[in-house]
Amino acid sequence: MKQSVKLVAGNWKMNGLGASLGEAEALAQALTAQPANCRVALCPPATLIERMGRTLADSAVELGGQDCHAEKSGAFTGSVSAQMLVDVGASLVILGHSERRAGFGETDADVAAKVEAALAAGLEPIICIGETLAEREAGQAVEVVSRQVAGSLPASLAGKAFAVAYEPVWAIGTGLTPTLEQIEEVHVAVRAAMVTRLGQGGETAPILYGGSVKPSNAAEILAVREVGGALVGGASLKADDFLGIIRAA
Ligand code: PEP
Repeated sequence: MKQSVKLVAGNWKMNGLGASLGEAEALAQALTAQPANCRVALCPPATLIERMGRTLADSAVELGGQDCHAEKSGAFTGSVSAQMLVDVGASLVILGHSERRAGFGETDADVAAKVEAALAAGLEPIICIGETLAEREAGQAVEVVSRQVAGSLPASLAGKAFAVAYEPVWAIGTGLTPTLEQIEEVHVAVRAAMVTRLGQGGETAPILYGGSVKPSNAAEILAVREVGGALVGGASLKADDFLGIIRAA
């Protein structure tokens, strides 16, 4: 399969106050001094996007949100629309993260609707999929992610910029990672499911791996067939750790 340039994206989750912007600044400075071989993005909480955008101005680091509502506007207290993310300077958005699927009951259909909204606003979605530990132990990992690809990727993605992130739920924030063989098996299956779903439009979008990526394991994971980058949680909060992953790409 043709591979596009790797993408390493940091997901700050519900972490970070104004004082944390020094980490983004340190990252931007390091990458200006020595540019990365990959695309780099930071996805801070919505409250920090605009300020982080000012911090990252003139750097190559891209900016993303962590979720958006499927509707453009309206009576959805507490929610943020895709257009609002664009308005504060985001160009990407993480959608369907397992913490939203598990904690907020998001279904594949909900995720697909959010992807449509993101595309309509001009955002590049990073669509998360991944099996639970019970599903992995039952030998259903490939079946689960293939179903999630079919249900979470709307047909309108064909021809658009997007990424899929394979994040085994049991590997997120736990320090556990699948073996490199397991990562390859799932990524190859995800690629096949993307092509089944989108035809040629599913051939090149990067498939990121996410789940306890750190400087010490990034190089071997990023070298696995069909791994097109990484989605990084905890290790993206500190510039030095995140740089260690970026430099491995
Ligand atoms: C994530 O939340 O997307 C993630 C991969 O987290 P961590 O890197 O901390 O496991």
